[in-house]
Amino acid sequence: MLLINDLGRHSATFASDIHVAMRRVVDSGWYVLGPEVRAFEQELAAYCRMPYCVGVGNGTDALELGLRALGVGPGDIVATVANAGMYSSAAIASIGAIPRYVDVDESLTMSPAALEKVLGGRVRAVIVTHLYGRMASMPAILHLCRAAGVPLVEDCAQAIGAEFDGTPAGAWGDVGCFSFYPTKNLGAIGDGGAMLARDERVAERMRALRQYGWTRKYEATIPAGRNSRLDELQSAVLRAKLPYLAGWNVRRRAIADRYHGAIRNDAVQLPPPSDPAYVAHLYVVRTAERDALRSHLSAARIASEVHYPVPDYRQSALAGRAPSEELPATEAACREVLSLPCFPEMSDKEVDTVAEAVNRWEPPCTP
Ligand SMILES: *Cc1c(COP(=O)(O)O)cnc(C)c1O
Repeated sequence: MLLINDLGRHSATFASDIHVAMRRVVDSGWYVLGPEVRAFEQELAAYCRMPYCVGVGNGTDALELGLRALGVGPGDIVATVANAGMYSSAAIASIGAIPRYVDVDESLTMSPAALEKVLGGRVRAVIVTHLYGRMASMPAILHLCRAAGVPLVEDCAQAIGAEFDGTPAGAWGDVGCFSFYPTKNLGAIGDGGAMLARDERVAERMRALRQYGWTRKYEATIPAGRNSRLDELQSAVLRAKLPYLAGWNVRRRAIADRYHGAIRNDAVQLPPPSDPAYVAHLYVVRTAERDALRSHLSAARIASEVHYPVPDYRQSALAGRAPSEELPATEAACREVLSLPCFPEMSDKEVDTVAEAVNRWEPPCTP
């Protein structure tokens, strides 16, 4: 079976670097919030060209603590999209804040026009998700947030290394959030996350929030603090991998471009051609007969996946959070999207095999 993302093949390419990094941590005797975390925070901040970076336990905590650091609390309204796998919704819910779902545009990221309509109404913060590794329309979204005086959080979990007009993902808004879940473009060998901040006071609140609300040892001054720290071990692994990220992203884009040139099927809609604002975390096609295409690929021993099948507001965990107006682009996306295999170690021949299988597919006739 050709996997969507073959981590076994990925790990084999840098295993010796990781073993060196892990041995360094094991031998150091310092395992939590030590020199590796501090160095990784500096390296990621420099990579994304933001002044502050704070490591945390995972990407969802990054979103939650990022919102809290901006002062978002219970009952506050946070605008977000509903086609991005529940992560922002989970972070909003854990604060006791209220999601205000905004429709997406043809890029499948937040529609600036739809955002503009909700911004008047007591929105306390906006989370924009750079879905599938493709950055949202940041100039327009940033402009709207600034004009309304609403802080902007970027969910960069799928888009590390992407740049829009030369400015990296995570460096547009007030806070940038990252996940290092193993399948992300920069993956740890376990859970990990990080927040970028533009403002020093926000960064200080983030540091307190990830560790019991402490501003100094045993001095808890920030409410709602808890324990969400990035390990030394994961930080060392991420430091070993970060220098390879740009090359991996180039390869991911080349795979997307090869699909773009090779897939020819009137029933299958391709994503836009790649550019620096897309790091090809996922290669996502659309078709009205998504499930039939998925079975066809599976019969050809090609894995595919649906990111994501259910709009957040239709999840039973969020019953009662449905938007008052329809979100037609979100609904259509959840019905039609299908992710094809895409990872840096994939060969051109494998890409061609997938493309040929898609080209051979005929959608079932609908009466
Ligand atoms: C993976 C992901 C997250 C959550 O990260 P975790 O580390 O799994 O908590 C958040 N947002 C997006 C878009 C993601 O893809």
